[in-house]
Amino acid sequence: MNFLSSVLLIKRLPNYKLVIFLMILSGISEAFGISLLVPVVTSLIGESSKVSLEAPFNYLPEFLTLLGISPSLSFILPFVFVAMILSFLAVFIQERVLAISRYKFLAGIRNEASKNLVDSKWEYLKKISSGELSNKLLLESEKAAESIVAIALMLSFLIQIFFYLAISLMLSWEMTLIAIFTIVFTGFTSYRLIKLVNSYGIKSVEHNNAYNRQIVDVSRGMKLIKAFSIGEYVKSKLLKLNYKATEVQSKILINQALMKFEIQALISLALIFILIISIEFLSVEPSVLLIFLFIVLRITPKFFTFQGQFYSFYAHKPSLDVLNELIENSKKEFEQNSDDKKIFNNLIEKITFKNVDYKFDIKGDSVLKNINFDIPKYQFTSIVGPSGAGKSTLIDLIMGLLIPSKGSIFIDDENLNSLNLNSFKEKIGFVPQEDIFFDGSLKENICFDKGIPEGEILEALNIVQLKDFFNSLKQGLEYNIGEGGKNLSGGQRQRLSIARALLRNPSILILDEATSSLDSNSEKLFQVALDKISKKYTLIVIAHKFDSIKNSDNIIVLNDGQISQQGTFEKLVNTSGLFQDLYKTQTKII
Ligand code: ADP
Ligand code: MG
Repeated sequence: MNFLSSVLLIKRLPNYKLVIFLMILSGISEAFGISLLVPVVTSLIGESSKVSLEAPFNYLPEFLTLLGISPSLSFILPFVFVAMILSFLAVFIQERVLAISRYKFLAGIRNEASKNLVDSKWEYLKKISSGELSNKLLLESEKAAESIVAIALMLSFLIQIFFYLAISLMLSWEMTLIAIFTIVFTGFTSYRLIKLVNSYGIKSVEHNNAYNRQIVDVSRGMKLIKAFSIGEYVKSKLLKLNYKATEVQSKILINQALMKFEIQALISLALIFILIISIEFLSVEPSVLLIFLFIVLRITPKFFTFQGQFYSFYAHKPSLDVLNELIENSKKEFEQNSDDKKIFNNLIEKITFKNVDYKFDIKGDSVLKNINFDIPKYQFTSIVGPSGAGKSTLIDLIMGLLIPSKGSIFIDDENLNSLNLNSFKEKIGFVPQEDIFFDGSLKENICFDKGIPEGEILEALNIVQLKDFFNSLKQGLEYNIGEGGKNLSGGQRQRLSIARALLRNPSILILDEATSSLDSNSEKLFQVALDKISKKYTLIVIAHKFDSIKNSDNIIVLNDGQISQQGTFEKLVNTSGLFQDLYKTQTKII
């Protein structure tokens, strides 16, 4: 990306027009201040005013003469002071606006990224690492904002340079040319460092991502780390990743220092060069030389800041790219939820799978192959099969989270693809294989933003055998269940998951291995709950323990992505086949 198109990135900055306006304002007032200095210096040196007071530097003395005041130093200096103060004021306002814009940009890019993520398909979200995501939203977004601010500051420098150049050209075009040559030359010498730092920027994002992924996993897996006593292993892993992430950052700073040194040396050299040429060959007047040196001295620190910003831009630009990529990719993966699709109200007859295939990867093998079955309304359908058979994938297809690679799913006579997905999902109660809770109150976690009357909530808690537990809570529904529901037991979490699904008043209730991690007492309670609800909903249950599905109207046996058997418990248990084998091993273990 060339520098010019990078400068256009300023458009991403909120209030960028105001920021540019203020930059121009401060440039003008600074130039104005310097132009006033010319007569001051001339009069200080006591030199003939012949050269210095030629247009355009003679406006103030002439203005004063017009007013009948002799243009002495004591009259000119207050004007210089006011001009300087004005220029500082413009810079102050500009910095203020820039600081506000910076945080607006940060909030904006974070909002956009998280909004787009939430709106995208499950298929895409499944692949996103939570560690990487938190790194991108927290750290990389800060750096992205930094890169945009760097662009703004560079632009501010360029605008100032423009005004300085205008003044310098009026003072002495020969000296100005030498100065421009020096700047361009130093720019070229630092090009290799700029390229290097950009590559460090890319590496920095990668290492930060890796470190964050690990941090998230470690914090989730603390219990296993303690139980297995693998602290040393985890520590050394974190140490290495942390070292890599910080090492890149330090390399960026070292190179920055190196570049500063290079440029300082070159500028000092250039200054001497300019002085020699001016005195020896151009016979520039001392007043012009003084003003010129003054300008060079004012520009030099700004030039270093510019160089620092240039550097910072290239070091932080990869973070901006990463966030843009996240935003764009999620946009491409938006869930189709157009309003013109048919609204789903209720299941009337059945759900039908017709020759459905599903593969996660276009090039990969099908995870589900030629699936055909019906799920009639109000029936209790169970799905069983070895782990990895494709049961959860099948459920994701029913819920519209995944779209068949081949074949179709019909909800009554309507293809699931042509239904408004949100209206369909509203009618689904889902209990996932791993219970999912958010840090917050019990109520928030089961009702979300729906204002459900307390009576209904208590009824649901009663169905899932959580009434006693609820009664033991002092804070009642406001009880904080902690991150991921860690203040609840495994069994409580699973039953609460079911209560949450019931409270949606679903037309279809789907449970994915809801009993897998229950102890036998919780399982019994769960069984009671299941029996209570089985006739009220179209119930689809993935089951591990076959005792809980004895009352199913239909059991679908999946094996390696295909339906190998189908029928009632009675029928399947008495037919030789996968179900009978699985059942036998289960009853033997228990
Ligand atoms: P089950 O729920 O029956 O245990 P799943 O439906 O979760 O099985 O998985 C079925 C198969 O799909 C497994 O072989 C699994 O490895 C594969 N699979 C699951 N998720 C993905 C994914 N995101 N990408 C690729 N393969 C996947
Ligand atoms: Mg599963």
